[in-house]
Amino acid sequence: MDFNNKKLTRTTSFIHYVISFLLAVFLIGMANRIIWDIDEVDKRPYVTDFDVKTDIKKYRVLKQSIQDTIREKYEVQEGIQLSMDLAQNALDEQQASFKTWISTRTATQSSKVNAEIQQRNYILDSLRKSLKKLTSEKILLQATIDDFSVQKQKYNDAINEEKSKARDLYIKAERAYDLHIFISRLLFVIPILLLGIWMLLKKRKHSYWPLFRGFVFFAFYGFFIGLVPYLPSYGGYVRYAIGILLSVVLGIYAIKHLKAFVKRKKEELQLSSTERAKKIKNEVAEKALENHMCPSCGKDYLINEIFQSGKRKHRSGTLKVTPYCRHCGLQLFKNCNTCDTKNYAHLPHCYSCGDNILKTD
Ligand SMILES: [Zn+2]
Ligand SMILES: [Zn+2]
Repeated sequence: MDFNNKKLTRTTSFIHYVISFLLAVFLIGMANRIIWDIDEVDKRPYVTDFDVKTDIKKYRVLKQSIQDTIREKYEVQEGIQLSMDLAQNALDEQQASFKTWISTRTATQSSKVNAEIQQRNYILDSLRKSLKKLTSEKILLQATIDDFSVQKQKYNDAINEEKSKARDLYIKAERAYDLHIFISRLLFVIPILLLGIWMLLKKRKHSYWPLFRGFVFFAFYGFFIGLVPYLPSYGGYVRYAIGILLSVVLGIYAIKHLKAFVKRKKEELQLSSTERAKKIKNEVAEKALENHMCPSCGKDYLINEIFQSGKRKHRSGTLKVTPYCRHCGLQLFKNCNTCDTKNYAHLPHCYSCGDNILKTD
């Protein structure tokens, strides 16, 4: 592997991010596992659990018994219908046989014939009577069945009413359950979130920051994404409220720090250029050189010689390096003490002879 500083910086940063992500992924997996196990403990309510708290069972028993009675009555009614059919058949047969018998007799025949007519009429009458009795029995039974059916419908209505009572109880219990689940998850996530925020604010300069950052990712994921499936209907408020609070707190923190940074920079600029030169760190000097800007005040030190002529967009003119910053007066380039080559004044060695540039004369 060749030693390429830019590449190395990029690779290091990439590896650090991979470390952060890996840690976050495994932490998320672990947290999901824990939450899953909490789920096992709490039983979600079912609508049938609430039947026992109502009179639903009592009405079901009553309905069943009345249904049994109705079935029995129908069976009796079927028996009656069978008897009626038999009676009707017998009547039809008797009537037919009487008709044929009478057609072979004349009115003037003996009293023996009259006696038989009487006899046959008597049988026909009794058959008609029993048929009539059966019919009225059947009608009466139907009326009873109708009464029972009305009663059955009443029980049905009562059962439905009790069912809706059970449903109300269930909805109430489900809401309480959701809230309970949400709060237990919130109690689990809030300390993690607070720890994550603390790490974000305090551990950014730590040499193990990528690991802390992994935890920060996990904390934010856990709060803003992991909690979503458990949010009760008003849970959005909790999330957005905390989101707003976090933005405000982090925003205030960032603004304060930026302000302090600018103030520090301004104070630094009050110092003499030699003192400022001493404070400039190597990596800052390197970045500044790359971007041709002053390492102290951050402004560009290149001068475009035809800038004045108005060709601002096409920098075709020669760019000139200034030995001193036009804005803050810091020395930017100086000649090497040993070989007199012009060098950037804030990196340690002369590019021509390798002698130390930063050493004071
Ligand atoms: Zn400057
Ligand atoms: Zn030199």
